[in-house]
Amino acid sequence: MEQCSSCKANIANKPGTVTFACPQCGKTTIIRCPNCRKTAAKYICSECGFEGPN
Ligand SMILES: [Zn+2]
Ligand SMILES: [Zn+2]
Repeated sequence: MEQCSSCKANIANKPGTVTFACPQCGKTTIIRCPNCRKTAAKYICSECGFEGPN
């Protein structure tokens, strides 16, 4: 099951969801649901501790 990296919501097949590799280490896949994109909710890479979206 795929979960949003910020709110842990199940985002399976949800339109507007984005997935991308961690901008810092590239080892983990960050998943963001439409709601968290809209509110610019933070995510933290479990591998390197990078905090986004900044
Ligand atoms: Zn979310
Ligand atoms: Zn990382």
